[in-house]
Order: sequence, then C-alpha cells, then structure tokens
Amino acid sequence: MEQREDSIFPIEEALEMILIFDRAGEISYANAAARQKLGYDNDLCKKHISDVFPNTFRAVEKGFESECPFGNELQNLVAYRKNLTCFPVEARLVQDAADSGRYICMANDILEKEFLSREIDRIKQEAGQAMKVKSEFVANVTHELRTPVNGVLGNVRELLERGTDGETEKSLRLVERCCDDMNKIINNILDFSKLEAGKFTLEPRRFHFRNMLDYVRANHINRITEKGLGFFMTVSPQIPEYVIGDELRIVQILNNLLSNAQKFTPWGKITLEAVRTAQVNDRMELFFIVSDTGIGIDKGDRDKLFQSFSQVDASISRKYGGTGLGLNICKQLAELMGGQIEVESEKNKGSTFSFSIWVGACEDGETVSQQDDGKGAAPAMAALLHTAEENGENPENIRKYGTPENREKLKKNLSKLILSVEMENWEKAEMFMETVRQLTEEAPREVKRAALRLKMAIQKENYEKVTAEFEELNNFLQSEGDVLHDL
Ligand code: ADP
Repeated sequence: MEQREDSIFPIEEALEMILIFDRAGEISYANAAARQKLGYDNDLCKKHISDVFPNTFRAVEKGFESECPFGNELQNLVAYRKNLTCFPVEARLVQDAADSGRYICMANDILEKEFLSREIDRIKQEAGQAMKVKSEFVANVTHELRTPVNGVLGNVRELLERGTDGETEKSLRLVERCCDDMNKIINNILDFSKLEAGKFTLEPRRFHFRNMLDYVRANHINRITEKGLGFFMTVSPQIPEYVIGDELRIVQILNNLLSNAQKFTPWGKITLEAVRTAQVNDRMELFFIVSDTGIGIDKGDRDKLFQSFSQVDASISRKYGGTGLGLNICKQLAELMGGQIEVESEKNKGSTFSFSIWVGACEDGETVSQQDDGKGAAPAMAALLHTAEENGENPENIRKYGTPENREKLKKNLSKLILSVEMENWEKAEMFMETVRQLTEEAPREVKRAALRLKMAIQKENYEKVTAEFEELNNFLQSEGDVLHDL
C-alpha cells in the first residue's frame, strides 16, 4: 500500500490516534497524533500492530491474532511507545466495511483522564474526611457550648424562682432570653452539620395535629403580641386529628418561619394556615402557609434565601441578628419529608413562606377526639380509666384536673418519668409523658403548656431541657397544689 493514505482520508490532523493495518498486521498508515504520541517519525509504517499493542495482538505466521472484538465497542488497551514505555488508551477497532483486508484502530490517550479521575477520587476522599472531621468538631464544640449555656439558664431560672426586685428580674429575663437564643443557634448548627453529613433521620410518630399547632402558637404568641402584631391561625377541618410524621421537625420549620415573620414584621399581622392538599392511599400532603405584612424581600434576594449562611444583606444581619441557617434547614427538612418550600414576597408589603410535607394518615379507629370521653377517649386515657375502675377509683376524679386522685396519679407518673429520663430510657419516659399529658388535659393553660414543652424535650431526648422543663412543670403543679389545698 502506498504511503498516500493521508491524502485519501482527512484524518491526518485528527486529535485521535489513527492506525491502519492489514491482514498481516503490518501498519500501513499512522496519522500525526499516533506518530507523535507513540514517539515515531515516519518509521511507524511497516511496524507490526503487536509492536504498539503487545497485550492485545499476537504476531503469528499468517498475520495476527487477537481476542479483542472488532466493532464499535470502546476498549481500554495499553499502547507501547517506541521506547517501550506505555500508556492507557480508549480504542475502537474496526474492520474496513469494503472487506479490503484493512483494519483501523482509533485510540485516545486517556492517561490524563485516568490521572484526573484518580485525582478526583483522592480529592473526594480527602474532602469526605475533612467533612467528617469538621462535623465531629462542630458536634463537639456545640455540645461543649450547650453545657455552660444550660448551666447559666438553670441558675437564672432558680434566681427568678426565688423572687427578685423588678430591675434584677428584668435583667435576669434578658439573660434567660439570650440563653434561649443561644440554644437555638447551637441546635441549628448541630442540625445543619447533621443534614450536611447526611446523618439526619426523621422519626415519624403518631401525634395530635392541632395540639402541635397550639404548641407552636404558644411558642410565639407572647413575642408577637408584645410587638403589637395580630396573629391568626386557620386549620382546615380536612386534616384529621392525628397524623403520623416527625412532629418535632414540623414544629421546627414552623418555629423558624414564625420567628422570622415576627422578627421582620414591624406592624400588621402574621397568619398561619394549614391545609390538606392531597391524599394518596394512607399518605397525605399537608400544606402550611406563614404570611406576614413585614419588610419583604427583594426579588433578586429571594433565590439566595434557602442557601446556607445566606442573609439578605449585611445591614439586615446587623439589625436583626441570626445565622442564615434557618431557612436552609427548613428546606432540607421539608425535602426530607417529601415536600418543598417556596417564598413569595414584595418589598415593604410582606412575605409568604409556604411548604408542603407528606404525612401518614391514621386509620379511622385511631382518629379519635380528645374531648370525647368513654368510648372515644385516646388509648392511653382509656387504659388509665380502666385501671382506675379496676382499683375501685372514680374514673371521673382521675380525669378531672386538680382533684387529689388526679394529683396523686400525676405525682406518680412524673416521678416514674424522671426516673426513666435518668436512666435514659426515652421510650418509657415518653409513655409516662403521654399519661401526664392526658392527666393535665383540663389543667390551666400554663400547666398544659409546660407539659407540652416537657413532651417536646423528651421527644428530642434532650436531657438538659427535660430536667429544666420538668422542674418548671413540677413548680406549677406544686404552686397550684398549694392553692387547691388552701381552698
Ligand atoms: P436567620 O437565622 O439569619 O434569620 P434564615 O435562614 O431563617 O436565617 O433567614 C435568612 C434571611 O432571610 C434573613 O436574614 C432575612 O434577611 C430573610 N428573611 C427570612 N424570613 C423573612 C421574612 N419573613 N421577611 C423578610 N425577610 C426574611
């Protein structure tokens, strides 16, 4: 064959290495890329194909042998240079369709690609390691921070309980609020690092939907009314009383959105709405809307909102504080629960944050009313009433808050509860907590709220918070006990 292949095929300048060889295995043409990569001048022609690919082709008497298929398939081969050094290639071996007895090898040098892919693997591994170290560090630091903050909080509450003059009480309340805020930041950082490390798991349980919303409302109503804002909450009757979901995390999203709404609304009102938007078998989509009439957010800033550490601008963070983590955590939590979060806003008019989540629907039998007595009572209450009857006690007294029987039951359950907490048996603690909650169903608002807070802390398995909330509930009960006694 004449050395005129370069004029026949427009392949001389191709970036890919191209070799043409015949039945005897003799190379008749090599383009510029092949000559340059393999370290030959024009002396590559007349070489045997097994000189370039000794692992793929064997020279035999009649020509060559190869186990490699000819076709369009890409193959990873090793090419040898003239100086016998080698490099990896990705090659395609084809037989000339005209059956001219010619074969073509088109190959790309993948040394760089392989090197880069190994480099990427190495960098990924290092980044993973660094992320792990960072997450552990963040977890340790936040844990270490939590202990002194709770120490301060505990002491401040003790001082407040002892009673102080007006000015000191004002200062102590401020310290208490600062500690609460610090705890929120610590929890946010912990959640964020867990979510980032993919170590976050949801804990779905059956819970009373409206009680959950009442708890959220109770968390914010003071601050909202202190600012002179209105607060309106609507819950669609289509949402059943009980649903199955991660109550704590739903509360967390709502708390964050309501805190922001309160923070960024100087006048007007805040509304919270919950509706059911879809039901598929035993799963349903719930949709929450938190609206405010506050400062609003510029169109350009809206996209940045859900990114971590992002605040609209520096002047806002100076004025209102915050870490810029809240909305990113909300987004990740909503997505973990199968939904998403959106924002609509107009500068100086207000913002509306909405998010969807999927929860489990309770079966009919489980959807019971808390106000119902007898047949319709919640299972824990039913069991309680049953035991009371068996012991010859009047079930009405057990339920009726503040009676000696009720107080006795409460005392017993609370002491069992705290014992379970001491032993870190959270499951048991939750069981006793459910009874405490039932026993305080008709209690004054403060007691009910304290019981709800204790329940939340138990669900969060947060020892420090549980002991603090337990103290608070106990104090309420005791002070009320005295009142009842006096009467
Ligand atoms: P931060 O803890 O800093 O509030 P977030 O992620 O919760 O973090 O919020 C990020 C930023 O989004 C806030 O700093 C604020 O600029 C803006 N933002 C959030 N909610 C509202 C709202 N309801 N009205 C106006 N701006 C808001």
